[in-house]
Amino acid sequence: MGNSNNVVILATGGTIAGTAARSSQSVGYSAAQLGVDQLLAAVPDLAEVAGGGLIAEQVAQLDSKDMDDAAWRQLALRCRHWLARADVAAVVITHGTDTLEETAWFLQQVLPAGGKPVVLTCAMRPATALLADGPQNLRDAVACAVDAQAQGVLVVVAGQVHGARAVRKQHPYRLDAFSSAEQGAMGWIEEGQVRWQQPPQCRLPEASAWQADVEALPCDDWPWVEVVSSHAGCDGRAVDALLAQGVQGLVVAATGNGTLHRALGPALHRALQAGVPVWLSTRCSEGQLVAAQGHATQAERQPRPVDLPPFKARISLQLALLAHRA
Ligand code: ASP
Repeated sequence: MGNSNNVVILATGGTIAGTAARSSQSVGYSAAQLGVDQLLAAVPDLAEVAGGGLIAEQVAQLDSKDMDDAAWRQLALRCRHWLARADVAAVVITHGTDTLEETAWFLQQVLPAGGKPVVLTCAMRPATALLADGPQNLRDAVACAVDAQAQGVLVVVAGQVHGARAVRKQHPYRLDAFSSAEQGAMGWIEEGQVRWQQPPQCRLPEASAWQADVEALPCDDWPWVEVVSSHAGCDGRAVDALLAQGVQGLVVAATGNGTLHRALGPALHRALQAGVPVWLSTRCSEGQLVAAQGHATQAERQPRPVDLPPFKARISLQLALLAHRA
């Protein structure tokens, strides 16, 4: 260390650390097998790209489909620890692709707004694949992390830079599986340089109570919030079953602009009557709910429309319930 420009690499597992029996195999491999030192060794000039020292830490070793509250809390604490140090310029997180957008959104809400960059990266192919994308993604993520305009929580994958709010995994197999949809990528990484299309802004709109005190997040027992959907042939039984089991919050992935199957509405009303908050999102993969003219205010005992996709709304509702509990 002794350098004021260290980049910290926090490894959490995922396909980027995955191995398969054959190099032709990009499905049916084991995620989260290689340690952070092996990931770094696959990019020989990484310290040069970082322009300073590299500090490596293994925070977790899991397939991100199994991400949980305890791992999130630990990751947030380690980010906060390193970001607070004067000799650290940025944090890069290696992560699985499956829940990467959720972790990015979680971190965006609990880390100090507009601060040093936290760049998440991943891979769609295991490290043993003929066309392993992890090393290039890691190199690009470090290049982005040390860019003078980078700030806040970013995602770098397949040569693109995305913001935590807009990014979503859109494809189960392609190397460029992530998209910011109609908003478009924030920029591109080309030969180790970022070409910004829309440099990150200060993240004040995403401010949450936890930015001041991430240590106060409980180790476990976060509020139980589920996503339910409205679809053809829908009824209220899933919601009633969740209520009977003690669910503490619901996010509805509604059709279109927040429309609900007529058989689902009464069950959601029962949830609201029971004091369970219900947030309304859309299952459309682009855009967000648009209020009807003259209906900007929230009606009593109605699901609350939010401008997030369902699985990010789920995290925000969890954090809101946690803040309420504190
Ligand atoms: N299931 C893996 C994970 O999310 C998939 C990946 O990383 O691409 O960890």
